[in-house]
Amino acid sequence: MSSYIQKKKSPEILIVEDEHDIADLISLHLNDQHYSTTVARDGDKGIELALSKNWDLIILDLRLPGVDGLEICRQVRQNMQYIPILILTSKSSELDRVLGLELGADDYMTKPFSILELVARVKAIFRRVASISNSGSYALVSKKLSLGKIEINEEAREVTIANNSLDLTVKEFELLVHFVKHPGKVFRRSELLNKVWGYGHEGYEHTVNSHINRLRAKIESDPAKPEHIVTVWGVGYKMEMPNLSI
Ligand code: CA
Repeated sequence: MSSYIQKKKSPEILIVEDEHDIADLISLHLNDQHYSTTVARDGDKGIELALSKNWDLIILDLRLPGVDGLEICRQVRQNMQYIPILILTSKSSELDRVLGLELGADDYMTKPFSILELVARVKAIFRRVASISNSGSYALVSKKLSLGKIEINEEAREVTIANNSLDLTVKEFELLVHFVKHPGKVFRRSELLNKVWGYGHEGYEHTVNSHINRLRAKIESDPAKPEHIVTVWGVGYKMEMPNLSI
């Protein structure tokens, strides 16, 4: 047992946003929730600060003067330990790019957004991070999922198929977990968007298709004839029940 009591410091959030009103509003509301905030008002300052220390969260606008938000996201993912990133976008075409590029952002909001919803999303990110970092080895063992030859350790985010480990992106992993938890159930693309991406992305069904194709390339022995995630024509996709015969 530690012999001293460490004072819990408030989470430090970096806000990279060139629109002053929006940055100040976010900052004000997060300060109200006892988060400590720092604002960078252009991309150059943003990237300098983002790479300067392990922030507890970065809220990142995509369109910035100087270095853009996508580049900042990429650099943080390449150079830093895991830092949660919440992306702000002003256009759905940008959102499409973010989803398509799989930059590993933790959440996205399109402008205009509700400040209360943003605060709720921030809290949700911190709850997720806390549950990951509080999980001990017992939890790691108990969090295993399996279906046929597919084994998933949700906490460690590891997947093996017939004992070969797979390298999946965040969304590929989440899609696979979703399917493995619901074997035999058919999901429409719009349902998968809601369940896996989390909220209304109407019109982004092709995002689901492209992720399924990439996932198949990794988990199927012949992606042209999938045995795990199969297409249900005119409806969507389902995870086949494993063959239980011996
Ligand atoms: Ca902007």
